[in-house]
Amino acid sequence: MNKTLTVLTLGASLFAGLALPAQAAPEVSLARFDCGTPQAPTSVNERFSDTYAYGDLKVQFVFSCYLIKHGDDYLLWDTGHSMTAPNVAPKVSLVDQMAKIDLKPDQIKYVGISHYHADHTGQIASFPKATLLIGAKEWDAISSPKPPEGANYKPFESWIKGDSKVEPQPIDKDVFGDGTVIMLRTPGHTPGHSSLLVKLAQMGPVIITGDAVHFRENWDTVGVPAFNFDRAQTVASVERLKKIAANLKATVIIQHDARDIDKLPVFPAFAK
Ligand SMILES: [Zn+2]
Repeated sequence: MNKTLTVLTLGASLFAGLALPAQAAPEVSLARFDCGTPQAPTSVNERFSDTYAYGDLKVQFVFSCYLIKHGDDYLLWDTGHSMTAPNVAPKVSLVDQMAKIDLKPDQIKYVGISHYHADHTGQIASFPKATLLIGAKEWDAISSPKPPEGANYKPFESWIKGDSKVEPQPIDKDVFGDGTVIMLRTPGHTPGHSSLLVKLAQMGPVIITGDAVHFRENWDTVGVPAFNFDRAQTVASVERLKKIAANLKATVIIQHDARDIDKLPVFPAFAK
């Protein structure tokens, strides 16, 4: 190819790129589910800080899951407690909550799991048609012949057996390939913990923390629960989330903090 032709070809392809009709970006919306029954406020000083940071502070913990609608596709983020969990079982299952808008479990394209604990994975077995998005180290633990203490592997049977699809994520995952919904690698609470960034047109960016932090004072002082898998990773992950929140001016939603979850409407209402 001679030089003129190369330049012409390059010019033509650049022009072609510019001339492509603008694709209408799919609308993204976000709703919150109740995913467990709250108990009495919890004293957090010992269990939720390895530096005894919180004195007599008591925190009202809640259990929440999230639904992201991207165009016609749905991503469910975390699946809460199981319907048989003592004391903390949800009043209404995710499947029954979804029925309010006639949404069937088989319409959920992806289930994203922040981490393997029972209060985030309890109802995943209701969504065997969904592709599971989960941190690679989390998946290694769940699918290991000897799952570690705290890994709630039983409801993942369909994915472990290979009847359902799983895509373990070693790094961040741009779920729909357009930058609107991103799973963020935030290890520390567990080895392969993830948080979720959702960019809404009206509300702006929203960070759903998973258990990278458990309550606002955790976020403010980078408190590390004594039972976390790795202290240094936890501190680094919280620092990362704080920087993302500052740079994007994002709304931060701490999944377990009763004071935070009202930032989003309760399903079937969606934030846009
Ligand atoms: Zn949790």
